[in-house]
Amino acid sequence: MTKSKEVPVAAGFSALGLDERVLKTLTGLGYEEPTAVQEATIPPLLAGRDVLGQAATGTGKTAAFALPLIHLITPNAVPRERTTGLVLVPTRELAMQVAEAIHKYGRDLGVSVMPVYGGAPMESQIRSLKRGVDIVVATPGRALDHINRKTLHLGHLKMAVLDEADEMLDMGFAEDLEAILKATPELRQTALFSATLPSRIQAIARTHLRDPIVVTIDRSVSPEVEAARVRQVAYIVPRPHKIAALGRVLDVEQPTSAIVFCRTRGDVDALTEALGAHGQRAEALHGGLSQDQRDRVMKKFRAKKTDLLVATDVAARGLDVKHVSHVINFDVPADAEAYVHRIGRTGRAGREGVAITFAEPREHRLLRNIERATKQKIEISEVPTIADLKAKRLELTRASVRDAVLSGGLDMYRKVVESLAAELDVMDIAAAAIKLVENRRGEDEPEEIPLASRVSVGAIARPVRGARVSTEKNPRPTDGSKRPRGVPKPAWEPVRLFIGGGRKAKIRPGDLVGAITGELGIDSSNIGAIAISDRFSTVEVPSDIADTVIAALGAATIKGKKLLVRRDRA
Ligand code: ADP
Ligand code: MG
Repeated sequence: MTKSKEVPVAAGFSALGLDERVLKTLTGLGYEEPTAVQEATIPPLLAGRDVLGQAATGTGKTAAFALPLIHLITPNAVPRERTTGLVLVPTRELAMQVAEAIHKYGRDLGVSVMPVYGGAPMESQIRSLKRGVDIVVATPGRALDHINRKTLHLGHLKMAVLDEADEMLDMGFAEDLEAILKATPELRQTALFSATLPSRIQAIARTHLRDPIVVTIDRSVSPEVEAARVRQVAYIVPRPHKIAALGRVLDVEQPTSAIVFCRTRGDVDALTEALGAHGQRAEALHGGLSQDQRDRVMKKFRAKKTDLLVATDVAARGLDVKHVSHVINFDVPADAEAYVHRIGRTGRAGREGVAITFAEPREHRLLRNIERATKQKIEISEVPTIADLKAKRLELTRASVRDAVLSGGLDMYRKVVESLAAELDVMDIAAAAIKLVENRRGEDEPEEIPLASRVSVGAIARPVRGARVSTEKNPRPTDGSKRPRGVPKPAWEPVRLFIGGGRKAKIRPGDLVGAITGELGIDSSNIGAIAISDRFSTVEVPSDIADTVIAALGAATIKGKKLLVRRDRA
């Protein structure tokens, strides 16, 4: 099972010619192999060719154009005012989703991306566009609006992407697309992605694509993607801590709608009660209820008046519920068939799903049997820590702040900011406002729960050669100044360095200490807090030698690998 924790450095992707940093990000996201459409379209796009790509929904078309787009932006570091990438999508939701995906893929390269859609106030969009964005993801109507107002300049555009082109045509955007493309340089690169290729699409392709590479992916050749749409995770937790662990996982995952499977009626009732006490809207469903009661429960669940349905296998048989985001196995199902049957309830209708299984330590083997029978990997994960939970809350806050900015109506508050800005840094003001929101959110401070799966982690936490160590899964202090508890402040001014490898690359604190002291011939008293998380690590060093350390570590190999080393941006 430990095998499944090792993620190869996006091997299949590296053959496609993408930037190292993008490859690392993909590995971090758990993308191991490119999908068929990605494999076929990324290389020609990187080579500057126009592409016409057709593949079914859910086959990874976003990354197929987003990765080359990101790759194209960074090496040239052109001024931000020059939007270099434009992605046109049919709806507001897609604009947000695609922008979020590009943000995710391009995070480590500092690519800026912005969704632009109708229905949101113009002023804030104009302000952001003025500040400059590398990639604009827009609905056609709003894009045209900005072009006509001269608030979106496409004179320097390098690549235009028409995503879900069939949908855009169905929605009557054909003329808008024409007008938008007219506002872009003739020598731009163009990619057109679509789930279907009706003749109207081919006509657009003939007019706007130059000698395109045409890629069509038959649905039957990409069944692996269907499976990949259900993320399968397991947590190893001793029985007494299972309910607490489930609560924590629910807090972090924030399922919109989930079914929790238990073995017996008694388990269902006990768990439903415990979840209710945890503040979750949970309803029990089992054979002990009358048909009437069961109908009522299902009606509530379908109407989304219940977030969690706690059920036995028998009671849930044949349930057809759309929109189940998470299937949770509170116990490992008896056999692979039951497992497949249960997780088949999520990831339906082209949506993504998550299947989470709680296993007791001695049930490890049952998981492996299921993996073997389904020929699919179940990733063993650690129960989220309090730090994870806090990071999740912060992420939610970030998202709501972003939404608030995009939806405007801030004039009243801008006045407050303006008056504060007379004496304070705007960045500090914003950070303080976020801190206040966070503090209000975090009224109920969670307790750390002792879990078996963390024992092995504790073993790494031994301080090494005088270094101060923390092994929180998410070690970044949330406000940029707080230090992990129990870590004394060093005499020198610390700078936090980011190292692009962590627990999954088998990096331990001692490796970092060894590499730094060894490469530079300095004493370990020059090393401050070290934090190792799954996919990256951070280490504090004195600011006056930070650049020397970055250069030395960047050139060195750690655990046989060259790793990205840079100042931590957090
Ligand atoms: P499409 O646009 O073709 O409908 P998306 O681009 O929305 O599909 O991708 C569907 C899902 O597949 C997304 O959740 C995405 O994160 C995931 N995905 C894309 N490429 C890969 C990959 N190479 N490996 C694993 N998951 C992937
Ligand atoms: Mg898509």
